[in-house]
Amino acid sequence: MIPERLPWHGPQWLRIERSIRSGRMPHAILLRGARGNGKAMFASRLAAELLCGSNAPPCETCESCRLCAAGSHPDWIEVTLEPDRREIVVEQIRDLVHSVGLTARFGRYKVVIVNPADLMNRHAANTILKTLEEPPGATVFVLVSSNPAQLLATVRSRCQMIDFPLADPGLAVEWLHGKVPEPGAALALAHGAPVRAVELWSSGLIEVRSRLDRDLDELLGGGDPTAVAARWKEFGRATVAWWLTEILADRLRKSVNVSTNPVPGVRGPRQVSCLLPMLDRCLEVRSGVLGRTNANEQLVLERLAFGIARESARSRGCRSVGSTPR
Ligand SMILES: [Zn+2]
Repeated sequence: MIPERLPWHGPQWLRIERSIRSGRMPHAILLRGARGNGKAMFASRLAAELLCGSNAPPCETCESCRLCAAGSHPDWIEVTLEPDRREIVVEQIRDLVHSVGLTARFGRYKVVIVNPADLMNRHAANTILKTLEEPPGATVFVLVSSNPAQLLATVRSRCQMIDFPLADPGLAVEWLHGKVPEPGAALALAHGAPVRAVELWSSGLIEVRSRLDRDLDELLGGGDPTAVAARWKEFGRATVAWWLTEILADRLRKSVNVSTNPVPGVRGPRQVSCLLPMLDRCLEVRSGVLGRTNANEQLVLERLAFGIARESARSRGCRSVGSTPR
């Protein structure tokens, strides 16, 4: 499917259209900005528009558009992270350089999308440099990055930057209507990034969040940590730690005004102060996940649940919640 032009990308499209009209389409652009804001959709839509042979691209009926929609256009080259890899490697870039050197099958543009470009390792980034500077024929490189500072300066300097600031909330909520049940709440959970909000909803993660929110209330109310940890097993420690960090950070932010605006599960200043050590425990699990520590999954979840329960009991003045699993 060819993605739509997103309503909050008006200025960025205007800039591209001006370049195309004046015959000065840059041969390398870097789309940079917050994650989940639609940069990848912009890149795909741009590819389809450049490759379409009609006067009103994308016409969605020509052969080029049909191939774009099917994801099999021979002049559209995409490089991304391969499964089980943490970086884009030099072999991928060598293949890309080879493909760019071949004649465009449709005789128009060749479009290369590298996303996330900042995950090219040093060797890969050095290999792409020369082609990026002098691409053969009418090739357009579209690099996409939410962490542009991680890109080699020499790569950045060969690209024209296009910034993608966070979407206007009004436009974003309007766009989210019909895509997610509670657009405002979903947008807030995605930190203002509308495409991320749709991803969170469609992958079921928003539902996971509300279940973890209830589990946290249960632990704060003196519930059984073993039973809670058993329920967490289906989500895995990465998801649990990630969402609990978000939930606790959110509660901490709101708790600044706890006396006038009570937070569920947080009944007073003593309980507010117990949120910080809980947050620390979640962050510990998160860094363990990132460091790929080979810990027993269930044990990690139980320790986390017991840790939270213990901090909560301490703040309520209780003495014990049972012994932590070893
Ligand atoms: Zn077309």
